[in-house]
Amino acid sequence: MKILVLNCGSSSIKFQLIETDIDMIEADSDRTLARGSVERIGTDEATLNVTVPPHPTRSTTEEILDYQAGLTRAVAALKESNALADISQIQAVGHRVVHGGEYFAASVIIDDKVEQDIRNCAELAPLHNPHNLRGYYVTRKAMPQVPQVAVFDTAFHQSVPPRAHLYGLPYSYYRRYHIRRYGFHGTSHRYVAFRFHKIFGKAREEANLITAHLGNGCSMTAIQKGQSIDTSMGFTPQEGLLMGTRCGDIDPAALFYIMSKDELTLHDMSTLLNKFSGLYGISGESNDMRDLMAASARGDEQARLAIEVFCYRIKKYIGAYTAALGHVDGLVFTAGIGENSPPIRTLACQGLEELGIQIDEARNAATVGKEGEISSDASRLRVMVIPTNEELLIARDTFRAVRGLPNPH
Ligand code: ADP
Repeated sequence: MKILVLNCGSSSIKFQLIETDIDMIEADSDRTLARGSVERIGTDEATLNVTVPPHPTRSTTEEILDYQAGLTRAVAALKESNALADISQIQAVGHRVVHGGEYFAASVIIDDKVEQDIRNCAELAPLHNPHNLRGYYVTRKAMPQVPQVAVFDTAFHQSVPPRAHLYGLPYSYYRRYHIRRYGFHGTSHRYVAFRFHKIFGKAREEANLITAHLGNGCSMTAIQKGQSIDTSMGFTPQEGLLMGTRCGDIDPAALFYIMSKDELTLHDMSTLLNKFSGLYGISGESNDMRDLMAASARGDEQARLAIEVFCYRIKKYIGAYTAALGHVDGLVFTAGIGENSPPIRTLACQGLEELGIQIDEARNAATVGKEGEISSDASRLRVMVIPTNEELLIARDTFRAVRGLPNPH
């Protein structure tokens, strides 16, 4: 089945055309026929990028004023590059939807009720859900007969029990405003857990894992027998690890203090927490780990400090999730930093021998941007690098939803 996977943001559409079916999923032989993006939609300088492996990326700059035009151009580009003979070859569309609230614990075919529930969740993710829905409206219009499936960032974490998802606020805030931990990056955590089970030939029930998604946004998850039982992001993606520009865990009273001292508005404070904190905030220099590693190597103390805080926070969550799980079989690193930075993995795991974690430095150094084990033979936990592939999981979920097959967590 040829599936169009869409990830629609405020001014961009990221897309992939993936061919999958039950045998391909089993053999891990699904095919990414093309991938691309339309960026800066709404301007006369929008860029359209399409890559059809093994050919190089083709990029054009043109006027693309709305989503409708963006999708039309993306499909036309797929045809021009021979990835698709005709739009009618697309048999299903899988949409990344950021927030499913407490409505969705799995991927679903979008119907009127589902659409309404996604709209109800928009208040919880005002910067994402409305754009995700816009993608749906455009594809529904262009391909009215084709089933469309929503795959939620939050769904995997709906299994997190109340002891881990409730905040210590008056309970009425949970009842009235649904204030609780939702967690994000669920598709990524779920995908790498799936790969771990596959690599070691284990059933989901046979392994407990800690997964660390370290990209611009960062989160960790405790996975017990295939189910998320705790995760570091919370009501919003602000909570938990230190991130590129977000601060992660913080004493909320510190925010009131800053607001009153500097006479900041709510909007100012939100911008400070989202855009000027984290690695960028501490280093005063960059949110990009590569820049910080280079600066630290040159002796830049602020960059070194930012890296130290980043790694210490990961280590603390490994400890916390070891306690939450009781027994851990594997630790997985993924996303930009997790996949590509051996020194960060070393620092995050330093001193955790008591928890059964021992890194083999030669394996660690050799595992960059690819799947592989980085723990020593003596390590009780298998520490793995597993590149994430959220689009592939969206395509597989879409296929299974359309065929009425259960979507394994
Ligand atoms: P996003 O969350 O936007 O999808 P990515 O998963 O692409 O982000 O991760 C981006 C982060 O990965 C950046 O901080 C970048 O510096 C980091 N990164 C990418 N390659 C490397 C590398 N070789 N060494 C260290 N960090 C890297």
